[in-house]
Amino acid sequence: MMYAVQGFELWLNIFTFSASTALGISVYLKNRQSWTNRLFMLLALFIDTYITVNYFSLHPPLPTPDNQLFWIRVVMFICSFIGPTLVLLVHTFPQTRVRMRLRYLIPMAGLMLASAAASLSPLVFQSIEYPGGSPVPVPGPGIPIFFLDFIGLFLVSFGILIFRYRRAVGEEKTQYAYFLFGTLISFSLMGISTVIFVVLLKTSAAVFLGPVFPVILMAAMAIAIIRHGLFDMKTVATKAFIIGIWIILFSKIFIAQTGTEFFIDLVVLAGVVFFGILLIASVNKEIAQREELSRLAASLEKANHRLKELDQQKTDFLSIASHQLRTPLSIIKGYLELIKDGAYGKPTQKMLKVLADLDMTNQRLVDLVDEFLNISRIEQGRTKYVFAPKDMDALVPDIIRSFGDKAGEKRCKLRSQLPKESMIVSMDEEKIRNVLTNFIDNAMKYSVVDERKECGDITVLVTSERGGVAVSVIDHGIGFSERDRINLFEKFYRGENVRMLNVNGTGLGLYVCKQFIAAHGGRVWAKSRGIGKGSEFGFWIPSKHAP
Ligand code: ADP
Repeated sequence: MMYAVQGFELWLNIFTFSASTALGISVYLKNRQSWTNRLFMLLALFIDTYITVNYFSLHPPLPTPDNQLFWIRVVMFICSFIGPTLVLLVHTFPQTRVRMRLRYLIPMAGLMLASAAASLSPLVFQSIEYPGGSPVPVPGPGIPIFFLDFIGLFLVSFGILIFRYRRAVGEEKTQYAYFLFGTLISFSLMGISTVIFVVLLKTSAAVFLGPVFPVILMAAMAIAIIRHGLFDMKTVATKAFIIGIWIILFSKIFIAQTGTEFFIDLVVLAGVVFFGILLIASVNKEIAQREELSRLAASLEKANHRLKELDQQKTDFLSIASHQLRTPLSIIKGYLELIKDGAYGKPTQKMLKVLADLDMTNQRLVDLVDEFLNISRIEQGRTKYVFAPKDMDALVPDIIRSFGDKAGEKRCKLRSQLPKESMIVSMDEEKIRNVLTNFIDNAMKYSVVDERKECGDITVLVTSERGGVAVSVIDHGIGFSERDRINLFEKFYRGENVRMLNVNGTGLGLYVCKQFIAAHGGRVWAKSRGIGKGSEFGFWIPSKHAP
């Protein structure tokens, strides 16, 4: 039984030694220039030495009390370097250069050297006793120095980690979480098993477990340091598992009892290493692919952000430009009226014709600027809606009337189909007027695209539908394809159907309509049986507006 425990203990030491070395080397090789990685390697060296001397302290080469006391003192000596290295590592992480100020560095080095020196002298442990057969060193007056150096600095590194963890965001926060987890678990367990058991409970029964705990810390820190991008738990766990098996099999070779056992262990190790490498390679490939994906996602996000910014700038520009344009246009309009009315002398017929053209062009500009203003108000959430119950049956003929001349000019027949009863709906009349005007305007615009084509009838149909009112404008114009249908209500979208035509437009009208109708809690639609087959544009709004 005793033999089995000792065999296990030896194996445990070889295992932890190999694990710590493997972790130290792999982190160091990941970035040799970085002090974070260098300090980690240094910590691994101290821990390796600690594991070795800890074993000797329990099984001294010469089984005399003096010899045992000597090895125990060496353990304390080595431990004196662990606390300061940990603080420095935690403070440096994740930077590549040591940033700790000299005013902290020097006292810490002083404490470390004092503790190291005291550890080798009778100040920390003055003698050794064997109360229940197991060795228990007797603490000397210098033990507080050691405690300050080891436990004190452990607490300092813990404090730094908590401080940094709370301020970190994203990926870095996870890294600090690993550090915190590792430090907390390993040092508290190590403290309990070695210091508390030995000094307070006066038994070294748990000392042989000592090497396990720092390796937990090393593993957690290694993940934190080399973790990057999508180095997620699944891949870490796979790698750790494979490397763990390697280390177990590797350390088992050293405790083989017979030549055959040694040989079998060696063959098994070779096989497992081979397949492990294949598995790790495939995991690495997966990581690389995922990293590539996340890189692409990040650059897409950046591009998206930039596009949003540009969109915002465009809205701002629209807003400023249209505000600046609106006033002069109104002034021109005012003067044109005055000239037409003869305020500056009676205009001739020729002049009246020119004035009418000027008025029309000016009005087109006013409409355009109004559309821009609508857009910028919508985008900035500044559109004001005044809802009141209104009769759609009365509004539609009124709007049709307002098209009087224009419809005649284009030889369009504007008709309405209204239900008998009145259609009272809660709406912002001005906005609904805007929407319908837009639909009818478009219907005329996209019906007579060349002189030879007849405009045909344009029907405005009002029906009562599912607790609301539906209004649609049906024309016999150019129609549109399915591809256009999906996008017609998007900002700045002009259909493929108008690409070859010489018809002016901004692609903003329908977008504004959609926003106005959405604010009423309604919806818009566009239908066409295809190019050249006419279109239907409509909206539905509920009778009662729910704010
Ligand atoms: P604009 O008319 O200034 O181009 P709109 O937002 O009013 O902008 O319309 C967007 C697009 O929808 C138009 O460019 C056109 O392709 C299509 N469209 C709108 N109304 C009709 C219609 N009655 N018939 C066919 N296509 C239309």
